[in-house]
Amino acid sequence: MSDGSQKSPVVLKFGGSSLATPDRIRLVAERIAERRQQGDAVVAVVSAQGDTTDELLTRLRELAPDAPAREVDMLLATGEQQSAALVAATLGTLGVSAVSLTGWQAGIATDPSHRRARIHGIAPERIRRLLAAGHVVVVAGFQGVNDLGDVTTLGRGGSDLTAVALAASLGGSCEIYSDVDGVYTADPRIVPEARRLDAIGYDEMMELAALGAQVLQGRAVEHAWHHGVEVVARSTFAAGPGTKVHAAAGTERMQPVTGAALDRHVARILCERVPDRPGIAAQLFGSLAEGAINVDVIVQSPSHDGRTDIAFTVADEDAPQAEEIARLAVARIGGGHVSRDADVAKVSLVGAGMVSQPGVASRVFRTLADEGINIIAISTSEIKISCLVRRTDAARGLEALHRAFGLAEA
Ligand code: ASP
Ligand code: MG
Repeated sequence: MSDGSQKSPVVLKFGGSSLATPDRIRLVAERIAERRQQGDAVVAVVSAQGDTTDELLTRLRELAPDAPAREVDMLLATGEQQSAALVAATLGTLGVSAVSLTGWQAGIATDPSHRRARIHGIAPERIRRLLAAGHVVVVAGFQGVNDLGDVTTLGRGGSDLTAVALAASLGGSCEIYSDVDGVYTADPRIVPEARRLDAIGYDEMMELAALGAQVLQGRAVEHAWHHGVEVVARSTFAAGPGTKVHAAAGTERMQPVTGAALDRHVARILCERVPDRPGIAAQLFGSLAEGAINVDVIVQSPSHDGRTDIAFTVADEDAPQAEEIARLAVARIGGGHVSRDADVAKVSLVGAGMVSQPGVASRVFRTLADEGINIIAISTSEIKISCLVRRTDAARGLEALHRAFGLAEA
């Protein structure tokens, strides 16, 4: 086997479902071994097996519903460490020399925060030495260490970020392996005629990830964009080119829309009859920002008798806290009625080509109207349009939009 240290290394990331059983771990080890045998210097980044992360969270919640974030991270990080050791040891049985590393051992330094820590820097010397000595390095994804020496985690789906950050730091490329063979024009489980994209822009992929597409973690795409790391999303189980995520998606941009997404994990907070005077929105959304709550589609209605309605959407998991914060803020600014509506979903279209092509919004609204679907709220950016609809209408709306914009045709 040649010494892979001459070439720039390749970082291969394997998701939890690709590691869920012993057979699958063997398959992953074989994939890694093939690359090594081709002479590549290989860093593998692994997620926790199957639903391990959720199971660990459930176990912890039973014992300590309000466990400190530090302990949550300490526990969750073990899932990825198990995978790393299992994969490295399995590589050994194939005659491939491999060393597993925790995030800390891999030199991944983060800010002090837990559960959604940001990577501050990577000291890749140890990985470089191991690669130069001909080893495959298997890194536990999703984790790092802060200045106190405590284990931190990088947010759900954070192993993607580990992989991209290591690729950036080592000057290599990054391949993300999962049970889907790339990024689709829409979730094929909802829209059967959805098509795999050969390429997609970083900007479009970031929007799609934020709007509910689950192939790649949004923060990982953002990091790849900043550092110019080319990312390919492909399948562990089937050969194929996958989807390249890069700076310009070329011909794809001839079409105004590249992909569609559906997010059912949203809720709407309604603040009715709050006083309509300058500074009210600033106070309300200021309080939400202090609570680190991400707010999306915001609608303020015309005022009546000096009072107005303000509604906004948040992620499902943030909804109880958002409602509570809104209730306190509204009471402070002069009263009103706050309620929460969980029966909503967000249907979105994304495409960098929207910037230059007028009429996309009106086509979206016409399509939904023809389906008899009521739009509760709308939000747009230069490259996306999102409509809030009833949950029961969401899948039908997604399919209709996918059809109306010809996304099934290349
Ligand atoms: N195991 C973590 C999660 O489930 C991180 C990852 O898989 O990327 O979110
Ligand atoms: Mg994942």
